[in-house]
This record gives sequence, structure tokens and C-alpha cells, in this order.
Amino acid sequence: MVRSTETMDAPIRRHFNFDNSFAHSLEGFFTFCQAEPAVAPKMLQFNHALAEELGLDPVALDSDAGLAIFSGNTAPEGSEPLAQAYAEHQFGGFSPQLGDGRALLLGEVIDTQQRRRDIQLKGSGRTPFSRGGDGKAALGPVLREYLIGEGMHALGIPTTRALAAVTTGKDVYRETRLPGAILTRVAASHIRVGTFQYGATRGDVEKVRKLADYAIARHYPDTAEAENPYLAFFAAVADAQAALVARWMNIGFIHGVMNTDNTTISGETIDYGPCAFMDRYAPGMVFSSIDQHGRYAYANQPEILIWNLARLAETLIPFVDPKQDRAIELLTETIECIQPLYESHWLAGMRAKIGLSTEDPHDLKLINDLLSVIEEGHADFTLVFRRLSQVLRGDNDTVRNLFKKPDAFDVWAQRWQKRLEQDGVARETSAQAMDRVNPIYIPRNHKVEEALAAAVDQEDMMPFSKLLAVLSHPFDEVAGNEAYSEPAPVTNIPYQTFCGT
Ligand code: AMP
Ligand code: MG
Repeated sequence: MVRSTETMDAPIRRHFNFDNSFAHSLEGFFTFCQAEPAVAPKMLQFNHALAEELGLDPVALDSDAGLAIFSGNTAPEGSEPLAQAYAEHQFGGFSPQLGDGRALLLGEVIDTQQRRRDIQLKGSGRTPFSRGGDGKAALGPVLREYLIGEGMHALGIPTTRALAAVTTGKDVYRETRLPGAILTRVAASHIRVGTFQYGATRGDVEKVRKLADYAIARHYPDTAEAENPYLAFFAAVADAQAALVARWMNIGFIHGVMNTDNTTISGETIDYGPCAFMDRYAPGMVFSSIDQHGRYAYANQPEILIWNLARLAETLIPFVDPKQDRAIELLTETIECIQPLYESHWLAGMRAKIGLSTEDPHDLKLINDLLSVIEEGHADFTLVFRRLSQVLRGDNDTVRNLFKKPDAFDVWAQRWQKRLEQDGVARETSAQAMDRVNPIYIPRNHKVEEALAAAVDQEDMMPFSKLLAVLSHPFDEVAGNEAYSEPAPVTNIPYQTFCGT
């Protein structure tokens, strides 16, 4: 029996070609730790395409042996499971010692495009950072992270990915009893602004320097050659994050918990807890049940990003210049550039959404006026942009019918078409370009809830699979999938999301 288990496991155990740099470079930023065994694990979802991208064997892993790994029951050969330490500003208040309370980094692999990627189990049991928590995750939030992360990826937005979702066979207790589950998450890295804060608040300057050097080598190697590498590193993180948040805003995404532990150094979106996509455009919209003061409302996201990046800047002061005043001055100058940088990323995204291929100084006003018309017209953000291309194909009605006050839209559409003529691009060419950046399918909140409810309450994964398939091709409209593009029926109950804990 022992032999047969070994032969079954051997190729899988070897299959991950782990190359663990974090564990070997950053002592003091983690604790080695093992996953809790899962009693009766079951594979719910496995991402074949991502496995291939990672250079893994999808067929060999979509199996009992793979299940043993993704449930935490077998540590694959070469893995060095560890819980990472980090601090965090949560809703503006500081927690100096958090860390992976329910996650384990198994290790890193080099993917088929020579990119280093983290493989992490989320929900695999208690760690030294669990505090009062059980270290577990419930099925609903695991599937939610899977779905929205993969949806964001298909939309072309940098994000952590989902390799597998399994149930553990053991319930977890939240407000009610829920099936326990584990997500296998893939990330460019799990280094966060909070990781730097963790080192800095301990006053260990050399450790923070080591972390910065590691992050530079891993994510922004060009900045090592700059005249002031740490300042250039900060500017590079700021640019990646400004570009990311601009993409969120372009697509109507609300993260919901933009704490400093959820702001990655890589510029990937991370931690899909109480996030949501806007349907009716309302910039002040808040979804998260824990965000009582609207700190992380849609329209506040760019400002919060700058606040979070300023927390990163504080940790880099000792390395930017030997004179503290000068270091602060240099970092402050860079922070002041983030707003205009963000605006230029945002504007470029919005120009593409309305089909503009050149720049005109009046574009900002044209775009802002459209947003006002959408807001006042109580129209669906995603559908307005998607249906705008129809105007260029001679169909005005589809889009104008989305507005409560179509006249205001008509006036705007005249100005817009005049501006488009200035570009001199064929109307159909512009329409096609617009359809490549304006999705028809986004993770609509009601469809996500429907898929999760079926999976959790009825053990029916069909709605989840169907939704995942639709979200994997967000720009290709398919007849028969209308239910996935429609906003939720209007009710008086505002949509609320809850933390994934
Ligand atoms: P998150 O909401 O995932 O960003 O988590 C915030 C912090 O709480 C992190 O340090 C997590 O590791 C920790 N945490 C969340 N849920 C749990 C849990 N069930 N058990 C232990 N720690 C948790
Ligand atoms: Mg987090």
C-alpha cells in the first residue's frame, strides 16, 4: 500500500518546480507552518488554463493527488509552507502585527513566461498570526474570490488568480454553519504595503532594506539601475498602482477594503472580500457592510490609494537620502505626482471607452459630461459604454433607452460624434475598438450571489461554471446569454457585500 501511494504521489510531488526565494531571503518576515489536515476534501474547481501557464501538468493535478495538495493534506515536494508577516492600516487605524492568519505560501514557481509566481493556500488552518480566528475560509467567499479574480483577469486587469477551489469536509462557524473551503491562489507575489510597514514599525531598518532590495529585484529590476533606486522603486510601485486603480474606475469596480495589506507591491488586485461592480452609476456608492463611513466608496478609491502609497513612502525614508529632510522632500514630490499620473491613466482608459484614438484638451470635459448624464439618467454604467458603439452602427435607441432622461444623452452624443469625426477613423473601426474595451459581461452582483447560493446551499456548481465560462470572454457578446448582461432587477434593498472572513 505504501508503495502504491508513493508511485501515485511521486510525479505530482515533483511536478511543482518550486524555486522559493522569499523563504530564503527574508527571514523575519514569515514563520514556517503546516496546513491543517482536511478530513474529506473534494475538488470543486480546477483551473486547467492557469495550470498550463504555470508550467504544471493540469491532467495530473486535476486528480486525487492534486486534491491532496490543494486541501493541504500533502505538502508537495519542494514546497516550504510559511505564513507571511505584515502590518496593516485598516480603515485608517494601524495594526502593527497581522500576517497570514489563514493562508500559507507553499512556494514559488517560474511560469512558462519566466515570471515568478507565488502558490498560496487560503483557508488552510491556523497560523501563528491567526489571533482569535480559526484560520479557515467558508465556501462562499472562496468561490467569490475565484469568480471575480478570474473575471478581472479576463477583463485584462492585473490580479491574483485562482488555481483551485476545494471543500475541506469540515464546517466553519460564522454567523451560521458553512462548508469550509480552501482557495489555491496564484500571485506575482504577496508582498504588500503592509509588509514594509511590518518591518518599519519594528524599527529594523536593515530588514526593510532587504525587503526593498528583494521587491526591486523581483518586480522592478530596472529601478536598481536608477540614480536613486529606492525612490525609483517607490515611483514604480506608485505607477503600477495608479494604473491599476484607474482600470478599476474605468470598469466600475469597487474593491471595498483598500487597507494597506490589500495594496500589493506588484500592482495586482488582491483580496476579493466585500468587492462589487457598480450597476447604476453612482460615484458615492459603498457596498461593504463593514465600511460604515464610506471610506472605500467608488469615487474615493484614487485618494485612498495615494494615502496607502504614502504609508509605503514613510517606510522608505531611511534609504532615499541620508538626510531625512531631503528624503521626505523627494518622496513627497513623488507622492504629489500620483494624482496626475492616475488621472492620465484614467483618461487614457476613458478615451478608449468612447472610441477616441487621439487626444484633445476638451476630452476630459466631454467624458465628465457623459458621466454626469449617466448619473442623472440613472443608467447602467457597463451597458451605456458597451451600447455606445451601436450609435456608430446607426442604432441610437439601444443606448438612449438606458437613460431616464434620453434628451440629455442625445445632446451629448452629438458632441461626441463631432469629436470622433476629428479623429478621422472609420465608424465601424472605432465601434470595434470600443467593443474590445467595454465588456458586455461583468460579474454582476446578483449573478455572483445566485451562483454562490446554488453551490453552498444546493451543492450545485452548474450556475458557477456557467457564470465563470461567460466571464472568461467578457467582450464577446453571445446570443442566449442576455441574463448575464442585464442589471439586477431594481429593489429597495441596497446590495451589500460581506467580508470573506
Ligand atoms: P483579509 O480580510 O483577508 O484581508 O484579512 C485581514 C486579516 O485578518 C489578515 O491578517 C488575515 O490573515 C486575518 N484573518 C482573516 N480571516 C481569518 C480567519 N478566519 N482566521 C484567522 N485570521 C484571519
Ligand atoms: Mg488582506
